[in-house]
Amino acid sequence: MFRRNSQFAIRLIFAYGRCIIEVTMRNSEVIWQEMLSVLEVEIPALGFDVWLRPLCPVETSDGEKLVLRAPTEAHKGEVVMRYMPLMKEVMRNIDGAPTVISVIAAEEQAEEEIIEVKPEKRPVAEKSTINPKYNFENFVVGGCNKLAHAAAIAVSESPGSVYNPLFIYGGVGLGKTHIMHAIGNAVRMSMSNLKVLYVSSDTFISEFIESIRTAKGANQSFRDKYRGVDLLMIDDVQFISKKPSTQEEIFNTFEALRNAGKQMVFASDRPPQDIPDLDSRVRSRFASSLVVDIQPPDLETRIAILQKKSQDAKVNIGVNELEFIAEHVHSNIREMEGVLTKVIFLSKLSTHKVDLSICRQALNDYRVQACDEITADEIIDCTCRYFNVNKSDVIGKKKNKEIVEPRQIAIYLINELMTLPLTSIGEFFGGREHTTVMHARDKISSAVVSDQKTRTAVNDIKAMVLRK
Ligand code: ADP
Ligand code: MG
Repeated sequence: MFRRNSQFAIRLIFAYGRCIIEVTMRNSEVIWQEMLSVLEVEIPALGFDVWLRPLCPVETSDGEKLVLRAPTEAHKGEVVMRYMPLMKEVMRNIDGAPTVISVIAAEEQAEEEIIEVKPEKRPVAEKSTINPKYNFENFVVGGCNKLAHAAAIAVSESPGSVYNPLFIYGGVGLGKTHIMHAIGNAVRMSMSNLKVLYVSSDTFISEFIESIRTAKGANQSFRDKYRGVDLLMIDDVQFISKKPSTQEEIFNTFEALRNAGKQMVFASDRPPQDIPDLDSRVRSRFASSLVVDIQPPDLETRIAILQKKSQDAKVNIGVNELEFIAEHVHSNIREMEGVLTKVIFLSKLSTHKVDLSICRQALNDYRVQACDEITADEIIDCTCRYFNVNKSDVIGKKKNKEIVEPRQIAIYLINELMTLPLTSIGEFFGGREHTTVMHARDKISSAVVSDQKTRTAVNDIKAMVLRK
């Protein structure tokens, strides 16, 4: 969040003979993070990863101001051409943001390319839990997901009356979350009076725990939030396994919504009968849903998905190259997107057209990552080796800086490299609270952008983990 007490200084500078008013500020990193969180929602994932994520806010010698550094001249050109109007618009809507934005290439001085932004403010739209990036238009339908797609369309056309609840299951990265957001977007579009809520089970669990803590029994505002909606979607419900009080709350929410004729949609990485340690009432409610699965996509669907993603990112890639990627990454669409992002990134770095050699290089990087199953213990071990500290200290209670930093980096990496709920990550560190885990994750996420030392440590440890 932007800190209102950031210090500002208004001064006049001359750039290219023009006199413009520039507002400099103390906290360009904070502003950029806030802008990124808005831009991430506005821009297709691929474009966001390729063009905006690599930008780094830099500090200038004459004080701190919002200057973004792109890795290459070509990258800078693309950012300015594609996204500058949107970036300006987003910046205008951020309270206290500067009125000038500047993009420079790696070796340039900060004074170049200063672009004026009108300081007028517009109200920021109310935040929704639905990500507009994921909709039915950009969801590619194939044999692997056509049942889930058809059920999702039916639910979005008449929520609460057919297929209630809907339970979607399938492996990691196959489109469950995408399809839930697509339902949410379709309902918001055609029935804007309906209240739609999407949450991960992680969020449900942590808000529930918080509500118990503050009210000694789930409090009314928690209940109002979850029982007062027309469409409730809970993602990754496999994580409620072994959590009896959360399960009871889900059961009660379920009953309340069903009695009121409201729609529910659940997603899980496995069918209801395979979720271990689940209350029999919850299991039978899940099982009485319309249960549909999503399977890994076949080659044709994979190519169609890559085509769609590259079109959305406005990047031209030949059919041979797309086929090559689709042939080599089978099981997970998220991984396939990762390879595509890398391909585009490498081609921009070298300013070459995307060809098979670039695809091969991107794929090699991906294979290194995919070669082994990673465990939390391995991540903690590598982090300890890197910092030369004892594992027992890192997972223990010590609070000195030498231990806290490796602990937070290990937490960040476990969160990045593994699919685990925050509460389970806390368990690897002596049963720490999910809020502590969240804090560590967020702290390192921003340090990775702003602090070279942290970035190097994170990259080196990641390389150690992935090359084991
Ligand atoms: P899951 O929730 O099953 O782990 P996601 O919904 O997060 O998977 O999907 C992972 C990535 O793959 C997302 O970027 C999503 O847009 C993309 N994706 C998955 N299925 C499709 C599809 N059928 N068409 C287009 N993109 C898809
Ligand atoms: Mg998901």
